[in-house]
Amino acid sequence: MQADILFRNAVLIDGTGAPRQRADVAVTDDRIVAIGDLSAWRGGVAHDCTGLVLAPGFIDPHVHHDEIVLTDPDMTCMTSQGVTSIINGNCGFSIAPLTVAPPFPAPLDIILSDEVPRFASFGAYRAQLDAAPPAVNTACLIGHGTLRINTMSDLNRPADAGEIAAMRASLDAALSEGGIGLSTGPFYPPARAAPTAELVAMAEIAQAHGKLYVTHMRDEGDRVRESLQETFQIGREAGCGVHVSHHKCAGLANHGLSEITLAMIDEARKHQDVGLDTTPWIASSTMLNSGRHRQATRVMVADSVPHPELAGRDLADIAAEWGEDLDTALARLLPATGIFFVMDEGDVRRILSYPHTMVCSDGIARGKHPHPRVWGTFPRVLGHYVRDVGLFSLEEAVHRMTGLPAQRFGLTGRGHLAPGHYADLVLFDAASVAEGATFEAPLTPAHGIIGTWVNGRAVWRSGAATGARPGRTLDQRTGSIAGASV
Ligand SMILES: [Zn+2]
Repeated sequence: MQADILFRNAVLIDGTGAPRQRADVAVTDDRIVAIGDLSAWRGGVAHDCTGLVLAPGFIDPHVHHDEIVLTDPDMTCMTSQGVTSIINGNCGFSIAPLTVAPPFPAPLDIILSDEVPRFASFGAYRAQLDAAPPAVNTACLIGHGTLRINTMSDLNRPADAGEIAAMRASLDAALSEGGIGLSTGPFYPPARAAPTAELVAMAEIAQAHGKLYVTHMRDEGDRVRESLQETFQIGREAGCGVHVSHHKCAGLANHGLSEITLAMIDEARKHQDVGLDTTPWIASSTMLNSGRHRQATRVMVADSVPHPELAGRDLADIAAEWGEDLDTALARLLPATGIFFVMDEGDVRRILSYPHTMVCSDGIARGKHPHPRVWGTFPRVLGHYVRDVGLFSLEEAVHRMTGLPAQRFGLTGRGHLAPGHYADLVLFDAASVAEGATFEAPLTPAHGIIGTWVNGRAVWRSGAATGARPGRTLDQRTGSIAGASV
């Protein structure tokens, strides 16, 4: 038997959570064609994988790479970690449909540059990606914040009936054109004035398409419990599945609160479809004028449009040098992103250990000093939290990075190694895998990722991008997600 690629003698971890097994894997064109003892097979390319783990390529369910998939299509920040599929359009802010001109209100101005091509429909964005694909597969949520910016002249009030109707029609069209769900970010100024009823009205459209409501909740600090209740309420009233993005308990006063929030999620899951993801770091990263700096023990500037030379510096040091208080210094840095040390290590471990939690990078790749999670998230979980700390097994970690998000977001034929499935693969060394990125040097590729393949083509090999760009725009299954157990 003949295959395009043969992976020989790999430690196979298949993405289902099943124990590892020694096996060969054959790939032809974009698919896995056989798994098992394939010693009689011949391949155009053969890889000796002795001692190495072969797993489904990782799926990052929460990134803000809507624009860089167009402008930096090699996507090495993702492929160097073994990520083969990403979900964009998070936190209420998607690149499409976008009908207004820059300057964009924050935080859209940190997700999109002023030079971003604008797509009046999701279909137009998708057509552009199909015409010039990136190295990774992409799916995209449709952002309620973006729809508000398109529709409302005054963002500081609830949408009126006409505006809600217009946003629902726009969301309906975008979901029909391949958007995989709705995202909201009532934490952020463009959507802060949206009452729960407005979010329910949008979630009803997601429900009509059998798609998810994905949210950066209104509050992840002092009122995180109330925000969870609001999210559950939206899911119940609209009848759709809800997904809590980058779950955290921010602020010193809220350290330890994840014992309660996870119990709340557990209880809600008995009655409705609730999922979540998180990042494996005690520092968060978002726009700099969020007020989060008051909850942080330390704030680092990740990127500043007027002061790019200050990226990587601490806000407190900048303020001291300028002889200003933190708020005044912060205002001079805008638009800007920051890294906020706001979480407790115990909470990070507890949320990561929760069996329904997916791993996400929440990456914003702009500037030269992003959060190290942009380049290091998945290897950090595999190396630090699985191998070194022993939080859970490697099989469980791989499942939460592959099979679980694929099932959750309906990415059919991915996230699980089986004949007939797409050949999205990562080959890594479990003994050495680790993040290379640090807060000081955040653009460093991971260690121990030997190779990454997307749709059967190598995109990362021997520490470098191959230049291949075989990514596809992912469609979703047509069945209803609401009520599904995940
Ligand atoms: Zn967010």
